[in-house]
Amino acid sequence: LNRRLAEFGTTIFAEMSALAASTGSINLGQGFPDTDGPEEIREAAVRALRDGRGNQYPPGPGVPELRTAIAGHQARRYGLVVDPDTEVLVTAGATEAIAATLLALLEPGDEVVALEPYYDSYAACIAMAGATRVPVTLRPDAERTRFRLDLDELRAAVTDRTRLLLINTPHNPTGTVLTRAELTAIAELAVERNLLVVTDEVYEHLVFDDAEHIPLATLPGMRERTVTISSAGKTFSFTGWKVGWLTAPPELVAAVRSAKQFLTYVSSGPFQYAIAEALRLPDSYFDGFRADLLRKRDLLADGLRAAGFEVYLPRGTYFITTDITPFGEKDAHTFCRTLPERAGVVAIPNSVFYDNHEAGRTQVRFAFCKKDEVLTEAADRLRRLT
Ligand code: PMP
Ligand code: GLN
Repeated sequence: LNRRLAEFGTTIFAEMSALAASTGSINLGQGFPDTDGPEEIREAAVRALRDGRGNQYPPGPGVPELRTAIAGHQARRYGLVVDPDTEVLVTAGATEAIAATLLALLEPGDEVVALEPYYDSYAACIAMAGATRVPVTLRPDAERTRFRLDLDELRAAVTDRTRLLLINTPHNPTGTVLTRAELTAIAELAVERNLLVVTDEVYEHLVFDDAEHIPLATLPGMRERTVTISSAGKTFSFTGWKVGWLTAPPELVAAVRSAKQFLTYVSSGPFQYAIAEALRLPDSYFDGFRADLLRKRDLLADGLRAAGFEVYLPRGTYFITTDITPFGEKDAHTFCRTLPERAGVVAIPNSVFYDNHEAGRTQVRFAFCKKDEVLTEAADRLRRLT
């Protein structure tokens, strides 16, 4: 393994899913649902396969039906008008969108300001591009109800070498949904310092309570400097299909396409047609999915509290970040490695998503995109934890 990747080893998601399999534990670690997405969308994929749509290389930018559906979704949900021919790129999941964007836009030595704890592929892709990550740490607010962005810290992180801001809202793993005030401050900083912004919005439909997902590209001065990334995996519960996309101004899409064509070239042919149909599902699908997840969030949050965890109730994503200090535990990774034998449950240590390890040392993440009875059983098991 070369020097750029040496620090990354195996991703925590693979490590913890392997541990769940080898110990027969309930896997609340890696974020994937245990119920597949809508039957009619699976049927659409079967129809595409059978009718011979997408069985050979699809067009590089993605099939026109899907690009049109993505543009339609952005216009319908957010009033964001994008040209499906020049401003949309279909990718192999959000993972490839992130990789291709960073490989296309960064020069060796550039700095990327990113919110930590970060989704692990950010750090690895910044490293593969030869660039340097500069973390801005999200921290619990005074009431310990949400993780917030310190705007002074954000401003202080930008230097003459900063090339782009890498934002994620709703935020994995903390469940924070950035507020309009936070997003406005990010936008103003980007305009003032003439920075590109890459925003990972894969959890755009997973927001609860009074939280609202506001795409950064909708704020003044942002459309022309923003790459917006999303994915069908989370919204439609098809994480295995690996259909993702990005929207951006034509020159940025063209740049990212240059990198993408040498990563996968294309992917997921028949599934692209199915996701085009999914994006046109009525609002009732999105509302129903959200209501379902809200119930699951509350079910698991109550169970975790009853078991003795300190819970940061998420306003977005399908993850709950907890603190294990009440158990007298001092290290999240050690805790997660022993949790299967102690309780038959697998979780993810947030500590691995921090450069500033001290900040996340006692945080553990649980996924709630699971059947109610699975969440109840997991909570029962955790209650026996001492
Ligand atoms: N970004 C974030 C914040 C994620 O949590 C994930 C995992 N779903 C991804 C990107 C990757 O998405 P995909 O599975 O579509 O590659
Ligand atoms: N995004 C998922 C999570 O955060 C995992 C995806 C992966 O395993 N790469 O749990």
